[in-house]
Amino acid sequence: MKSFSMIEIGQVGWIEKDKPTAGILDAIVRPLAVSPCTSDIHTAFEGGLGDRHNMTLGHEAVGEIVEVGSEVKDFKPGDRVVVPAITPDWRSIEAQDGYHQHSNKMLSGWKFSNFKDGVFAEYFHVNDADMNLAKLPEEIPLTTAVMITDMMTTGFHGAELANIKIGASVAVIGIGPVGLMAVAGAFLRGAGRIFVVGSRQNCIDVAKSFGATDVINYKNGDIAEQVLNATNGKGVDSVIIAGAGTEIMKSAVKMTKPGGTISNVNYFGEGEIIPIPRIEWGCGMAHKQIRGGLCPGGRLRMERLINIVKYGRVNPGKLVTHVFNGFGNMEKALLLMREKPADLIKPVVIVD
Ligand code: NAD
Ligand code: ZN
Repeated sequence: MKSFSMIEIGQVGWIEKDKPTAGILDAIVRPLAVSPCTSDIHTAFEGGLGDRHNMTLGHEAVGEIVEVGSEVKDFKPGDRVVVPAITPDWRSIEAQDGYHQHSNKMLSGWKFSNFKDGVFAEYFHVNDADMNLAKLPEEIPLTTAVMITDMMTTGFHGAELANIKIGASVAVIGIGPVGLMAVAGAFLRGAGRIFVVGSRQNCIDVAKSFGATDVINYKNGDIAEQVLNATNGKGVDSVIIAGAGTEIMKSAVKMTKPGGTISNVNYFGEGEIIPIPRIEWGCGMAHKQIRGGLCPGGRLRMERLINIVKYGRVNPGKLVTHVFNGFGNMEKALLLMREKPADLIKPVVIVD
């Protein structure tokens, strides 16, 4: 079968691979729609996860089941499913301890395009189908559904980690697709005032539609100063980092109130150290919590997010700015994600 792979750091392309087979608990899925993630760019072009050779890229897909193992109870060939980016080993001590993202070892709940072949292939393998897949309701379009698998769960996790109290103030730094979903998540969690740090008009428009109240543009000066000025020098209760390099931690800590929370869902693809500014962190005593996490995956998470979409709370389809028809356009879509033209939020490739 054809697989769109990371051949080595800096090189991607189509290669031939054997079709995967299902273990007793597993499923083989044929993708119907896929989307490249900024994380694929960090992995393939920056080597953010280290060396990977001939590994199929991609971890955002909705698809049709073509095969299930003998012990799979709730799914059968022909079912259309939402496939989470994170497909943990649910029988692991870490999952039992509440951190399925790190089942067996750090970040290893994230298997696709990290520890095993990803979803940009004619077929892909899903471990523990009953625990990791969710049925796709007919009324949700494929392009919208594929945004649930990673963008929505990640942005919402940014809001979850941010300890948002009803009426609290939140700043979201970076309003690409993840940051935009973080805005929607902060709104659902009851934030009273939501600052967004960004400059692209299409993203600002979507951010406002998801509940952003204030826009901070770096072109108008230091972003932390702007947030402090807008909050009588106090800062915000929570900051969600969903873009930029490691230096952004300085601004995030600076614009957070004592007792507030900095939530990171960014994948820092480069750099050795993430700097915490000493004075703004109260010389270590400001009670400003810094948290960061990989998005939750698995079936229950997907089913809950599907409900949010199905019953009209949030429409993640607003992120999709470019749709390609045909798997042959995979490379085009991935490179678009790397170039990030101003009108792009997310591209989706419809497979047939
Ligand atoms: P993106 O590149 O499309 O969006 C990031 C945004 O941040 C862009 O709009 C960019 O202009 C903006 N930005 C860059 N520098 C900035 C700065 N200094 N100040 C303010 N804004 C700045 O990326 P995305 O697809 O939205 O993903 C965001 C991050 O989340 C990526 O690093 C991605 O790899 C990561 N990610 C993490 C998880 C997870 O589970 N934690 C899952 C998916 C993606
Ligand atoms: Zn991703």
